[in-house]
Amino acid sequence: MEGEAGERVDLTFLRRQLGAAFLAAFLCAAGLPLTAPPADAAPGVPRVSDIRAWTNEIYTRVAIDTGEEVSWQASTLRADPARALPPRIFIDIRGAGIRDGILRKPVEVRNGLLRQVRAGRFDRDTVRVVIDLERESTYRVFALPGPFRIIVDIDGAGEIPVPPTSPDTVAPPGPVAAVPSPENPPQGTPPVSTSNPSAGPAVPFATPSIPPSVESPRAAASPPSPARKHRVRVMIDPGHGGKDPGAIGPTGLKEKDVVLAIGRRIREKLSRSGEFDVRMTRDEDVFIPLEERTAMANKGAVDIFVSLHINASRNRKAEGFSTYVLSRGASNREDLELAARENGVPVGKLQGVKFIIDDMFTGARKNESLRLAKTVNDAVVRHVSTRYPEAQSLGLKQAPFYVLVGARMTAVLVEASFISNAREESRLRDPSCLDGIADGVVEAVRYYGQNGILAHSDF
Ligand SMILES: [Zn+2]
Repeated sequence: MEGEAGERVDLTFLRRQLGAAFLAAFLCAAGLPLTAPPADAAPGVPRVSDIRAWTNEIYTRVAIDTGEEVSWQASTLRADPARALPPRIFIDIRGAGIRDGILRKPVEVRNGLLRQVRAGRFDRDTVRVVIDLERESTYRVFALPGPFRIIVDIDGAGEIPVPPTSPDTVAPPGPVAAVPSPENPPQGTPPVSTSNPSAGPAVPFATPSIPPSVESPRAAASPPSPARKHRVRVMIDPGHGGKDPGAIGPTGLKEKDVVLAIGRRIREKLSRSGEFDVRMTRDEDVFIPLEERTAMANKGAVDIFVSLHINASRNRKAEGFSTYVLSRGASNREDLELAARENGVPVGKLQGVKFIIDDMFTGARKNESLRLAKTVNDAVVRHVSTRYPEAQSLGLKQAPFYVLVGARMTAVLVEASFISNAREESRLRDPSCLDGIADGVVEAVRYYGQNGILAHSDF
């Protein structure tokens, strides 16, 4: 698994310790006063405990961990050539402390898109995280609970999708929501001074994050793909792992083990022909945060992302296979509870989240994701049915799964039957059932790879 090994190494955060004088210069440049820091946050008080980044030359995801929920605001500052300052995105986090190690160690990137991510105390109540860009770029920011973290997705300006030309035939995306809103600058708002960032909203960067037409039904269809120069890249994401077992069946079968076994089968089957470049977010029993799984797919510029899960319900009779795409809400209580469980948060938290879905990519790719999800679900049920004729299809569904938020490619999440159902749990112990599930995913990905991505402008 050279690809995976490489992926893990690449995910190591690139940090460099700066000397005190150098750091002081940066703090001043960002408008971070050099006042004596207060004592660090008391127990139970939010604290910026880590800053993580996944990056390539056209995409970067930054995750800021605070543990507890915080009030935050993101904005931008234009380059200031007179002071040799690059364009910056900054996030002010109120009522939070910061781990001393982060103050001393900016996350160094320097990949043509980002220079570095640094943080400091702006005042006694505010931690400011500053992302120094190499060039003005589109970005979006959202927060995820459980534990609380703020996610910043930054795109190279050259990667904005071309407004699609084919009509929407499946379903339009919901209304665009982006906070902050770089694409709709307030008229006449002056640039924010670095010395007075509380003066008002910053002027967003000039590059629009979302083409104005993206909200129209026409724009919801898929953008035309450029001629493909690489094998179709597929990221298989076996859910859960390590400390997170996922759902557990009546006799103790763990979701994390089943989906890993299925994922390995898919990789093996899909790799045989040489047509596909297949990767996995995990190939062992390890815990990987949801936002990191998405970041791995984006960083790897994969074409298809398939997250593998096994459903569970308090109703032990619940059964069947379903495949999901991302949406802001769920159509019923069961799907909402499922999404909350998969996201590792209570339902109340899920509903309370100001849910920011990446409309630029999720919207453009939603129709493709819907098509793939239906193809996957039909094929999985058909394959499993050859041995288990009673296998049920619950069909194509939509729910707010964090692991799909911000995915830049066609992305689906499979719930391959119910581990809470004794009969289905027993079936999941049968290798031929796991093969059937894998065969279904492989058939759908193959079909989609040959007839979807490669020629989807014909739809
Ligand atoms: Zn799961």
